[in-house]
Amino acid sequence: MIKVLKFGGTSVGSAENMKKVASIIKNEGSRITVLSAMSGTTDSLVKIGNLAKDNNSAGIDNIIGQLREKYSNCINSLLKLPSEGIAKMEDAFGLIKNFAANYEEGKSERGILAQGELLTSYIFAGYLKESGENAVLLNAPDFMITDKDGKVNKDILKSRLSALTKNDGVFYITQGFICTNANDEIDNLGRGGSDYSAALMGEAICADEVQIWTDIDGMHNNDPRYVDRTIPIRQMSFDEAAELAYFGAKILHPATIQPCKDHGIHVRLKNTMDPEAEGTLIANGEASSDFCAVAAKDNITVIRIYSARMLMAYGFLRKVFEIFENNKTSIDMITTSEVAVSLTIDDDSNLDKIKKELESLGTIEIEKKNSIICVVGRVDHEQAGMTARVFNSLYTIPVKMISYGASHRSIVLLIDTENKIQALKNLNVGLFNL
Ligand code: ASP
Ligand code: MG
Repeated sequence: MIKVLKFGGTSVGSAENMKKVASIIKNEGSRITVLSAMSGTTDSLVKIGNLAKDNNSAGIDNIIGQLREKYSNCINSLLKLPSEGIAKMEDAFGLIKNFAANYEEGKSERGILAQGELLTSYIFAGYLKESGENAVLLNAPDFMITDKDGKVNKDILKSRLSALTKNDGVFYITQGFICTNANDEIDNLGRGGSDYSAALMGEAICADEVQIWTDIDGMHNNDPRYVDRTIPIRQMSFDEAAELAYFGAKILHPATIQPCKDHGIHVRLKNTMDPEAEGTLIANGEASSDFCAVAAKDNITVIRIYSARMLMAYGFLRKVFEIFENNKTSIDMITTSEVAVSLTIDDDSNLDKIKKELESLGTIEIEKKNSIICVVGRVDHEQAGMTARVFNSLYTIPVKMISYGASHRSIVLLIDTENKIQALKNLNVGLFNL
């Protein structure tokens, strides 16, 4: 069985945790191990990028000082011979300072961001080698190559990565998140993109399983940050997982699902801090028999378009959608009446332009600070009472939009963000008796 294992920031966040990762990859027989940067690193590097833009070298030195402490602590307690690791760390800091000193918007930020994954994977591979394992460190930007739209070239990935990872009994260690872009510069797949890296690598080498290791025991039925009692879900379908990941479950990057679903590669979510815990298996097959989970996504903007011209007309929605398409903005929810359409978006970077263009179609109303609540599971349209269970749970909470019937696996609602936590709590009681 060929496995690709990906470990998130907390899983590699200290020397102690890296030791846990080493024993997990040995137990599992991982073929390719994909690592994030040590926890907190990418956030620090984003800050350095912002300071570089402002030409604030004192601020940069300050953050590098904090990173130096974190990484040298890890290197010194993990490695018997730490000097190479320390030198590599100083090289990385040198590169970061260089990118900042010769600041080029975009390019510098991307170069700086990549250093977290590069350094973390170097340290971890060094530890494995010191412990006598047959470990090979691979440079992800050599085979993760994106085109001008930021899409990874799967043909190149497949041919290069399969050639690089042929040998049994070798632990191939590499970086998530980073790649080489169409201008031949170092780039990344966006925040949280390491999960997606692992899925693409799994697809490229025809893996049987991609495991995503974090610090929680699998996907839960509700958001443990806001709700006291939540339970892990043992098994779910790709479609359910995709909706939960897209609509707010933080454990998995939403792009991870597609490559695995296409090839029937199992995705297993596991807990580095408790490797014995079962976790969640995402695989093809029957969806749950009932509601299985709820998730919430914030920063949702609603756009309402009122237009008498819509009345009995055709082609109106096409004009609306075209405006969003031209502005590269995807729509999450939509509801229509005979004289109005409401849509939601989560990326409002082109909102002003979109609003202006929509004004040629009707009167526009915009509301921010909304949250989408997504209830996932088997939603049987022949069965009475399913919606009643959701709405009874939410009867004290004003609901602003509803999407029901689009699929057999979800009911999606829009509420004010200030009511989100209460809504999640109510659904926990009403749907899951928790
Ligand atoms: N280190 C990157 C981030 O924090 C990528 C990842 O962890 O998936 O966004
Ligand atoms: Mg993540």
